[in-house]
Amino acid sequence: MPINPWIDVTLTLSSDMVVWRGDLPFYIRKKQSMEKDKMNLSEVTMSVHVGTHMDSPLHFIKDGLSIDRMPITTTVGPSRVICIKDRESIKADELKKQDIKNGQRILFKTINSTEHLKRPQFYENYVYLTEEGADYLVSRKITLVGIDYYSIAQCGKSETVHKTLLSANIWIVESLDLSEVSEGNYDLVCLPLKIAGSDGSPVRAILRKLQ
Ligand SMILES: [Zn+2]
Repeated sequence: MPINPWIDVTLTLSSDMVVWRGDLPFYIRKKQSMEKDKMNLSEVTMSVHVGTHMDSPLHFIKDGLSIDRMPITTTVGPSRVICIKDRESIKADELKKQDIKNGQRILFKTINSTEHLKRPQFYENYVYLTEEGADYLVSRKITLVGIDYYSIAQCGKSETVHKTLLSANIWIVESLDLSEVSEGNYDLVCLPLKIAGSDGSPVRAILRKLQ
């Protein structure tokens, strides 16, 4: 049987991309150029939460693990994409129907992927995970949760949902572009940069549908 192709679910980093309010935008500058220096050499500045990125426990937990200490198995291996039709939020009642199991890596595809993620401006009313939904995921002891907008929590109410997940050692990946992905089981490869002491990092994330 032919092996399915990898699907890139990463946003392209560019200086015109949307960033979370107040975050340092992505900016790339050519420090040396072929014309003057016989080589190209660029440097970038950015928040570590720009584009498709991960939150480590240290993002909201004092003395929590930093991104460089993430076990590789957190984001490499089988994962489940669950489609959420609710246009407002991901609710515990919906999650309870999904047979979510201990150790699973769960990525939520919502209308964010097709309607909000690539808007030219930040959009406040994206689909988010409710506090009860976060509690339920903790009770199921999952390993990783992903979402297709810049935060997993409701805009303006970041703290509780992030703290609930990160204090239970559930790592978070945000701004996944799941527009080309359907519900089902996938192989996931999603690796953050190994930045010492960082609360987050951009990632390159790819999915391949399991046969
Ligand atoms: Zn983040």
